[in-house]
This record gives sequence, C-alpha cells and structure tokens, in this order.
Amino acid sequence: MRTSPPGWDITELLGEIADTGRDSARGGYSRHLFDPAERSLRTWFTARSESLGLDVEVDKNSNIWAHWGKPGPGTIGVGSHLDSVPGGGAFDGPLGVASALSAVAAMRADGVRPDRPVAVVAFAEEEGSRFGIACLGSKLMTGGIAPDAVRALTDPGGVTFRDAAAEFGLDPDGIGPDPDRLARLAAFVELHVEQGRGLVDMDSPVAVASGILAHGRWRLTFTGEGNHAGATTMAGRRDPVVAAASAILAAAEIAEKLDDPGHGSHARATVGRLVPVPGGTNVIASRVDAWLDARGDTDEATRALVAEIASAIRGRAAEHGCDAEITEESYSGPVAFDPGLRDQLTSTLGGPPVLATGAGHDAGVLASVLPTAMLFVRNPTGVSHSPHEWASDADCGAGVQSLRTVLGKMITR
Ligand SMILES: [Zn+2]
Repeated sequence: MRTSPPGWDITELLGEIADTGRDSARGGYSRHLFDPAERSLRTWFTARSESLGLDVEVDKNSNIWAHWGKPGPGTIGVGSHLDSVPGGGAFDGPLGVASALSAVAAMRADGVRPDRPVAVVAFAEEEGSRFGIACLGSKLMTGGIAPDAVRALTDPGGVTFRDAAAEFGLDPDGIGPDPDRLARLAAFVELHVEQGRGLVDMDSPVAVASGILAHGRWRLTFTGEGNHAGATTMAGRRDPVVAAASAILAAAEIAEKLDDPGHGSHARATVGRLVPVPGGTNVIASRVDAWLDARGDTDEATRALVAEIASAIRGRAAEHGCDAEITEESYSGPVAFDPGLRDQLTSTLGGPPVLATGAGHDAGVLASVLPTAMLFVRNPTGVSHSPHEWASDADCGAGVQSLRTVLGKMITR
C-alpha cells in the first residue's frame, strides 16, 4: 500500500484551493452556497474528480457526487463539504472532500477493484452560512426539512433560496427528499478536522467519532427600564445589560461544573450574540435580546442543563430588578453513530481514540437513515470556525491513510 500518487497528495490538493474565497476583512475563508468562491470550489472538485476517472453528477439538492463504479445498491459514500462559515478555516469541510479524493486516487493507483460502488460526496450549505440552516443539502435529501420552507429562506441580502437556486441553474421546485439515491447508499464515512483539543494530548493523529452531542438554541429576553446614563442613580436602575451579564456568567458556571470530557460527560453553554435595545452609549437599555447555545450528551442531560440555566437566569435577572424570558428556537437530539460501523473502523485502524463531538455534521444527519461514521484529524490549536484552525501535513496524511484503510475494507466483500 503506497501513499497517494503524484498530484494527489492531500497537501497539494488543499494547496490548489488555498486562494479560493479568502476573506480579506475577517481573515480565513468565506465560501458560501452558490457564491463565486463556492462555485469555483465546485468546478475544482468536478475537474479533479473527472481527472481521476470518476463520473460527476449534481443531485437535485445541489450536492455533488463523484462516482467510482456504476452507481447502484451498496454504494459506500465518503466525503464532507466545501462551504465555510464567514471567516472560517482552510480545513473544515475541504479536508474531508480532498482526503476522499486522495484516498481513492491511491487505491486506483494500487489497482484496487472495488466490489461495491464508491461515491465521493460534497454536501451543499453544510455550515448554513448563507441561508441559516446547517446541513441543508443532507437535510433536504433525507427529508429532514420541508422543501417549501427551504424555498422561502432568505440570505442576509434578502435573496430567496428559490431565486438563488434558479440563478445557479438548479430547479427550485425539484428540491427535496431523494429516497432512491439514499436507498443506494449502504454507509457514509466523513473525515473532518477535529473541532476541539481532544486529540492533542492523546498522541494520536486520528480518532473515530462516537457521536454528536444534543444541541439547541434558546432566545433570552431581558427586560428592564430604559433611562438616562447620567441622571439615574446606580441604586435606582433596572439595567437589563447588567442582568444579562450576571445571567451569562451563571450559565457558564453551571455548564463548567458539568463539563468533564475526561470522564465522558459533556455540557456546553454559550452566549455568542447579544443585542441591547436601543443600544446607545449614554443610554441604560430597556431590553437585551441574547441567544443561548447549549449542548449535552443526552436529551435528559441537555434538558436538565437548560432548566438549571433558565432558573439561574430568572434569579439573576430578578436580582437586578429585571424580567427574563427563555424561548426555545431549535433543538436536535444526540446522534450516536452506528456502533457496528464504529467498531469496524476502530478495529481496522488498530484502536485509535474514540471521541464525541459537539459540532454538527452531514454524517450526523445521515445517521438517522443509514450507518455512518466519522474520522477526526488532530487540530493542535483546538480552534475551528476561525482562521486559526489547523492540522499538520503529517496528520492530514495520516487521515488520508486511515480513510484509505477503512474504505479498502468496506469495498471488498
Ligand atoms: Zn464541517
């Protein structure tokens, strides 16, 4: 078994797209569904796949499929996504797609003849950066979201999905569940840069995923009394910004107490968006809108975490003479990847670490309808969705090697 043939090394592949979609304002990359950068990546993926002898097809939901062997029952899917968050890193998404191409190139160069069809997949709008719904391509395909709702989605510029799709050349009335394609897929494996520091201390470049944490979003509304910043005494205030600050600290403390990944327990609480109304420097706000992102291992644990946070938020708001309201905006239960496939991967790879992840992925969406698995590649910074996301050339190479080994096992009967 050799490493990838000339021209198909993972570092070379990623190097070819290193200048596509750079974001000069934020740093890193902004590659959003159907924008010029994302289209350029689609063209690159198509050309690279065709030069490898794969047959490329764009499905009705704009996911791209590069087939090795005639598409049919028992297909093994492998891939990830090409789009990014605003100002994202170079690895989140493209590493999985390019690693799949590199692994297939190595197998073809070795004369491997698969007993089953293989498809390298690039799923569309995984980050939800343009239309606000993560894993849009895989959710449409599996029926996880209603096509009518998707057609009506708008991007930050007010363009509807319907118009953006039509302009791209996709029939907006044709989007939706794709049961025939799903039925042909026997399993899906997604390689991804690790989003976290789990592998940094484990002396291993690659891990197998156990599952994805349950996660949801809650809207927090703190209501106080708007007033003059100079004329209102400190004792006479009902300042919702102060209430929100205290509540956010409480939420972080509660999650911190429960988050113990070393013992298999995960609890995450984040407030990353805060909007004081009216938002003036010399004005005590009358209201603060904030959003809580919370994650946990199970439905029960996540619900208990949010209930404890909600109670603390109300208490802290009351301490500052304010009211707090908590409204659920979205919730997704935990994903457990197929245990049989997971065990097959870990034994094939000689027992790498098995890690849970707090991030959502297309493999998590597909897990509801077919066996899926994930491989993570070490990220020494532990940072993702940022220009500081990183993986070494050697670790990326180890990721390709692992994917090649796993795929080789899955496509020979
Ligand atoms: Zn990703």
